[in-house]
Amino acid sequence: MSFESLGLSPAFVQSLANQQYTKPTTIQEKAIPAILNKEDVLGIAKTGSGKTMAYVLPLLMHLQDHVGVKNRHANMLILVPTRELAEQVHTVFKTFSPALSHPVKTVAVYGGVSINPQMMGMQGVNVLIATPGRLLELLDNNAVHLSSISTLVLDEADKMLNLGFKAQMDQILSHLPAKRQNILLSATLSADLQSIQQIVLSNPTVIQIEEEE
Ligand code: ADP
Ligand code: MG
Repeated sequence: MSFESLGLSPAFVQSLANQQYTKPTTIQEKAIPAILNKEDVLGIAKTGSGKTMAYVLPLLMHLQDHVGVKNRHANMLILVPTRELAEQVHTVFKTFSPALSHPVKTVAVYGGVSINPQMMGMQGVNVLIATPGRLLELLDNNAVHLSSISTLVLDEADKMLNLGFKAQMDQILSHLPAKRQNILLSATLSADLQSIQQIVLSNPTVIQIEEEE
């Protein structure tokens, strides 16, 4: 299986080759076509299986034909449990966004640092990568709006629940439009995760990769 055959554009395939990525991982093979097809996806695969690129690449492809016009209205929201993951995901978006023919603004926000520069940074944002607490603070300050979100990703959803972010996640969900694509990624499928996936996902394609990788 090649990246070409998954439906990514030649610019993305070239960019992948430039980064020495020659072959998709199993989760990428299954998730990329489903996400390109605008399906909701529940992706369960162990840590290190390549879940980040499995959603970043198709979501950037969606931005090819659609970028929002309203200022401070993000188009895509990626919720993550920690600052470290926010930075990692941001790096992957920045690596591949030059494959688009127009600029896309991706921003990562998290707690533990001053909020003021982050508030200014919401100007023209397209993809917002955020930890739940800091995102709620930005929403309280009217620094960013979520009414134009077309895609929601919950990355490391198991960890978000373990860290006690359930109530904050619910609060964030109430800001989102009902019609959107939802992607939930996790290393494990716990009972808690089952309950959140029922709230967040609608008729999802379930991709569960067993330990062979
Ligand atoms: P996960 O989120 O499943 O824990 P990551 O997305 O963080 O995994 O990826 C783990 C590592 O695998 C990263 O260093 C990433 O660059 C690498 N990786 C991702 N996809 C591929 C691929 N198709 N080929 C080779 N390495 C890959
Ligand atoms: Mg991950």
